[in-house]
Amino acid sequence: MRIDVLTLFPEAIEPFFACSIVGRAQEAGLVRIVCTNFRDFTTDKHRSVDDKPFGGGAGMVLMPAPLLAAVEYAEAQDSQDPVTRVLLTPQGQPLTQKLARELAQKPRLLLICGHYEGFDERIRIGLQPLEISIGDYVLSGGEPAAMVMVDAVVRLIPGAVGGEQTLDEESFTEGLLEYPQYTRPRNFRGMEPPEVLVGGHHKKVAEWRRSEALKRTWQRRPDLLRARPALLEELRQVLAKEGLPAPDAPTGEPAWMDTTDY
Ligand code: SAM
Repeated sequence: MRIDVLTLFPEAIEPFFACSIVGRAQEAGLVRIVCTNFRDFTTDKHRSVDDKPFGGGAGMVLMPAPLLAAVEYAEAQDSQDPVTRVLLTPQGQPLTQKLARELAQKPRLLLICGHYEGFDERIRIGLQPLEISIGDYVLSGGEPAAMVMVDAVVRLIPGAVGGEQTLDEESFTEGLLEYPQYTRPRNFRGMEPPEVLVGGHHKKVAEWRRSEALKRTWQRRPDLLRARPALLEELRQVLAKEGLPAPDAPTGEPAWMDTTDY
């Protein structure tokens, strides 16, 4: 896979791409990440990438010409594989594990980081990109979003994370959050892992993890379970076995799920 990142601040993100799983995936030849500064595609002596908005108002808007020239340059490099263009914007569809999985299958991605007040609308119209947001908040620039996206996608490329098992049970993989984890020391400030985890009985460990994942998802993200009747039924059986109230008893949503007071 090749990932191009168009940004005004390559120096802010290149070190991140050289570290950890993303860095190792690059070393292993699983992905190549190329950052391009679209200021290099300006034609005036001030190297301007932005200008005042038509109609007035605060802030500056990214002009279409330098960005589109940078896109054309980046896409002409390397293979002729189709490029999936991604505009990073708080107005886009939310980045989810499902979307990251889809993007991890693409041969080429091109991420565009905005800045200032954002993009001239003709950038969207001209490029017809996917528009992706990393959450309901506004960043000063798309660079943190590009780092988040690249990390979420690259770790899903087969071979990028050691031991595929790690990915199978991660949060969101099957619509569930992950179960609680413990490591050494066995006793930390009087707190111990549940007995089942140290008993060496693999089947019991797997059952405990599954029921904890179901209960944790129900407590923190009931929306995930409501969308999956089979998992909700499994939760019902787990709760019944443990003598706990049925999941359809009113529990209320976690307060942070309320989007009416933005
Ligand atoms: N004026 C824009 C608006 O209200 O929608 C926000 C512009 S923001 C200050 C500057 C840039 O940061 C955006 O063009 C985008 O590339 C990036 N950005 C900000 N928040 C983001 C988010 N939640 N997800 C992805 N990118 C974001």
